Amino acid sequence: MKKIVVVGAGVIGLLCAYEIRRRGGDVTVIDKGEPGGACSLANTGWVVPSFSSPLPGPGIVGPTLKWMWSADSPVYIRPSAVPSMASWLWQFWRHCNSGDHAAGLAAVTSLNRHTIELFDAIKADGVDFEMHEAGLLCAFMTRAGYERALANFHAIDAVHSLEIHELKGASLMVKEPALSDDVIGGILIAGERHVRPETLNAGLVDWLNRSGVEITTGVEMLGVTQEGLAVNGIETTAGHIAADVLLLATGAWSGRLARELGFRLPMQAVKGYTITIESPAVQLRGPVYFPEKKVVTSPFEGALRIGGTMELSGVNTDRDPRRLAAIRRVGEAFLPGCFEGESQTEWMGMRPVTPDGLPVIGRAPNYDNVYLATGHAMLGVTLGPATAAATADLVLAGHTGIPVAPFDPSRFVEPTRT
Ligand SMILES: Cc1cc2nc3c(=O)[nH]c(=O)nc-3n(C[C@H](O)[C@H](O)[C@H](O)COP(=O)(O)OP(=O)(O)OC[C@H]3O[C@@H](n4cnc5c(N)ncnc54)[C@H](O)[C@@H]3O)c2cc1C
Repeated sequence: MKKIVVVGAGVIGLLCAYEIRRRGGDVTVIDKGEPGGACSLANTGWVVPSFSSPLPGPGIVGPTLKWMWSADSPVYIRPSAVPSMASWLWQFWRHCNSGDHAAGLAAVTSLNRHTIELFDAIKADGVDFEMHEAGLLCAFMTRAGYERALANFHAIDAVHSLEIHELKGASLMVKEPALSDDVIGGILIAGERHVRPETLNAGLVDWLNRSGVEITTGVEMLGVTQEGLAVNGIETTAGHIAADVLLLATGAWSGRLARELGFRLPMQAVKGYTITIESPAVQLRGPVYFPEKKVVTSPFEGALRIGGTMELSGVNTDRDPRRLAAIRRVGEAFLPGCFEGESQTEWMGMRPVTPDGLPVIGRAPNYDNVYLATGHAMLGVTLGPATAAATADLVLAGHTGIPVAPFDPSRFVEPTRT
């Protein structure tokens, strides 16, 4: 049987390993840190097919240019990091048009088509994790913000049916009494879910352990050994590991590894921050999003998580306290008292983002047996199960019926001139 090595034990690598093992594959996992210890740790855990819009789109360049130099705005680009990411930024802005946005939306919506059923199937298969079915409420302080979000949801509804409820006045306050009186309206997307990401990661690790899958932690992949176009193993900080198939699920670090393997994969880290309040004074009835400020919240059993924002400052673990202060200001304005509770934990995660805002799923350029599952940006939890199903098909059978052509890693390879 082929020995499949998955590098990266974030939610994507863990779900891929789960899906491969569930189908009888021989799989091992390695990670330079702890499983689920990077971007997959303390995100807000939304499972939201209604958020299938890729990040680049028409109308985002203007506000981004206005915000990008201000450290407490929803989107911040650290000036000293601009030179090293100039090429990525240029490509990103080239995708900020309605044609690319519509194509990306259709592609991600298709991948998301069975997301909710896939989460139910994983749970039914004995992976134990916290999941809620409260839908997703968006809350607004301006009429313009409300109208913009409503138009966006209707665009998604046209390709993937959504249950959209417009809430105002008393009906909004009944749905979410903790909202400030300054909120003028809400849009509820019924049927959306959220999970506590730590429990999903832990549930997958537990399932993999029970199923005989070895997970090696604290070991970094440095490069590959190969014969022709086929990799036969990886070099790591703990020595050589033999592999018949290699799957890279290395999140924000994927661009660096791709360079090591000799192909181009433009990937930036878009940092986000969260604050988790244990035993919170404010108990939300479901997750709430403040689109005008890009701040997100999720209530869990005995906890409330508030976070968001986008910061481009390179692939590093530097944290900017001004970003957390901005989240606190927005949280307090929309949900008075929301930071009161027994204790608080601050966290930063690096979302892996490509310049077209789409994930990278498929066989790596120039290799027969190296695959990629990465670049899930704001949607790694949501798209994880569908990505894992497609990747398991590709790794085990060489083809998949899941529409992943738009996510082909070769899209970044520059055509050779003849
Ligand atoms: C504030 C915030 C909120 C978010 N909220 C949501 C949400 O509500 N819903 C949603 O769907 N998504 C959300 N996301 C996005 C989601 O968290 C990411 O898309 C997802 O976690 C990415 O998973 P990953 O497995 O690709 O990467 P990671 O979790 O970063 O995992 C990559 C792993 O690869 C390992 N690795 C890298 N290089 C090597 C190497 N050379 N050798 C060995 N190991 C290596 C790393 O140690 C790491 O463990 C949010 C993100 C943030 C920051």
